[in-house]
Amino acid sequence: MPAPPCLRAPRGDVRAPPRLTDPGAIAPFLQDAARTPGGHAAAVFLPRTEGEVAWVLREGTAVLPVGAQSSLTGGATPFGEWVMSLARLDAIGPVQDGAVRAGAGVALSSLQDALRPHGLFYPPVPTFQGALVGTGG
Ligand SMILES: Cc1cc2nc3c(=O)[nH]c(=O)nc-3n(C[C@H](O)[C@H](O)[C@H](O)COP(=O)(O)OP(=O)(O)OC[C@H]3O[C@@H](n4cnc5c(N)ncnc54)[C@H](O)[C@@H]3O)c2cc1C
Repeated sequence: MPAPPCLRAPRGDVRAPPRLTDPGAIAPFLQDAARTPGGHAAAVFLPRTEGEVAWVLREGTAVLPVGAQSSLTGGATPFGEWVMSLARLDAIGPVQDGAVRAGAGVALSSLQDALRPHGLFYPPVPTFQGALVGTGG
């Protein structure tokens, strides 16, 4: 039996992704839709591949994955963790036999747009269609 995806080696090289460290560039990632005050982080990572996600999880002491940061609970607000934005994992594969592979960073609205021409839709969605597949679905 093949290993489940969470146990197999990542596709692609395990290497450092692009990162933001400038306070001005990081600022938009320090709050989610709950507007919880006091968010702070030393770096925001923007992985584009499984290997880059693996690097962040291997090297980070505490990592907060974030999608669209539309959380209403403050759960996507960093308090000292490395922020790992999933927004660049936004590939949508071909729709075949009623199935599609979508990256964790695909917005639910984009996924619905890709499925609509095939007469399909993705049912488990919150009201906010800007949420990302990695969390929102
Ligand atoms: C206008 C509006 C309407 C909404 N309506 C609803 C609704 O009807 N129902 C509902 O349930 N919610 C609703 N929400 C809340 C929010 O949109 C959802 O909770 C949504 O699923 C969050 O998706 P996100 O991509 O913004 O995740 P984020 O807010 O970025 O993250 C949410 C949490 O998941 C974690 N996380 C993110 N990605 C991953 C990942 N790939 N792996 C592991 N953990 C991850 C984050 O660390 C965080 O703790 C609404 C929000 C808004 C602003």
